[in-house]
Amino acid sequence: TRLVALVGRPNVGKSSLFNRIIRERKSLVHNEPGVTRDRIFGRAEHEGEAFYICDTGGFEPTSKDNIKIQLVEQAEIAIEEAETVIFVVDGREGIHPVDSELIRRLRKSEKNFIVCVNKCDLPKDDIFIEEFRKLGVPGIYPVSAEHNRGIGNLLDAATAIFAHGPQEKKEDPENPPIKLSIIGRPNVGKSSILNRLVGETRSIVDARPGTTRDTVDAGIKYHGRELRVIDTAGIRRKSRMADKLERFSAFRSVACLEDADISILVINAEDGATDGDARVAGYAFEMRKPILIVVNKWDLIENKTSKTVNEFTEKLHLDLRYLRYAPVVFVSALENLRVSKLIPMCIDLYDQSKRRNSTSQVNNVLKEVLLKHTPPMLKNKSKRIKFFYATQVGVLPPRFVIFCSHPQDLHFSYKRFVENAFREAFNYKDIPISIVFRERS
Ligand code: GDP
Repeated sequence: TRLVALVGRPNVGKSSLFNRIIRERKSLVHNEPGVTRDRIFGRAEHEGEAFYICDTGGFEPTSKDNIKIQLVEQAEIAIEEAETVIFVVDGREGIHPVDSELIRRLRKSEKNFIVCVNKCDLPKDDIFIEEFRKLGVPGIYPVSAEHNRGIGNLLDAATAIFAHGPQEKKEDPENPPIKLSIIGRPNVGKSSILNRLVGETRSIVDARPGTTRDTVDAGIKYHGRELRVIDTAGIRRKSRMADKLERFSAFRSVACLEDADISILVINAEDGATDGDARVAGYAFEMRKPILIVVNKWDLIENKTSKTVNEFTEKLHLDLRYLRYAPVVFVSALENLRVSKLIPMCIDLYDQSKRRNSTSQVNNVLKEVLLKHTPPMLKNKSKRIKFFYATQVGVLPPRFVIFCSHPQDLHFSYKRFVENAFREAFNYKDIPISIVFRERS
């Protein structure tokens, strides 16, 4: 997935533009209360090109005195992390000295970028466009995020400059490799783990350019199964800046989550789960992605007793409450402790996610579930919600549709109950499932 970052001074309208671009995207189907409330990453699509967009307005400077330094930092991280930058300026104010400074840096970086002149609500508002052209930037686009003007042109330009890498290698459609991503904050040990995984099996199938410019995938074979660790360049590339703004380093993680079948979320045993990890966990849950939580640097924890693991796990599940389904492993990449468990565990998660159940099995389970927990009343209390039948409509993750009357009246907690009951009945013990309640037509 490609990464696009919106960069610019405060109040130029980055968040409005962000919302305009991701509007009506239904890819995150489970918009549940409390999950990733201050959304700063979104998935968007334009003319068949999918990309992730990041609203750096979420990292806006707070203190007055070093606004400029913080903006420069923000821009540099965006330059480092994103493939394309949309630099947003205020079309009512004209060029601000900080704009020129940031544009100079963008040009120096040789990163793909375009300039979006926002707040040009009407054609007569495009007065500063000529002034911006004097900066010598090739692509300058007047838009109005609020009035939905010029957005199509802007996205045409942004997607046109995506680097087109070599074609995907032809894969055996019967048995595609399992796409694995290793995500986590800088310095938690992702590349050390990757080295162990690839070294362990002693069979890098290939390391080849992926679909985007700086993506390299590594192949792993394990007992006849093939896995592909995606975006190893992203793992190995050491980010000087991203650790300064942890939320930003989550940007790449979220995109990797989407591309992968299974993700390994690496956490440093010394730090535990951080806010950034919790944010990534929220997105993973929304996407219903199977996750393996790996607590690395376990060698550094002293005086371990039999209770240490349980306490640590409990705390993790508290901090990453959306990932209660995810198994947890304690490893040391340094001492090669339990790292060899990771691949078989990932394969197990994958196989669970791919398992299908027949419609009769699904309906038997639905019947049992309804017996255990009588369906709730309609909101107007006139009668109970009626359930008709259920069926599994997909895998990776297992997806079910349950047909019922008045699904809009179903409370969140009842849906959660059904989801958990299904997971238990079908023995999807370590993975998320997705259930859609649909009005019977
Ligand atoms: P990445 O940024 O997540 O890819 O992290 P690296 O793999 O580069 O590791 C960051 C630092 O942590 C390096 O100095 C590693 O040597 C060290 N490190 C990685 N795994 C372990 C581990 O299991 N135990 C200890 N003590 N150090 C580790």
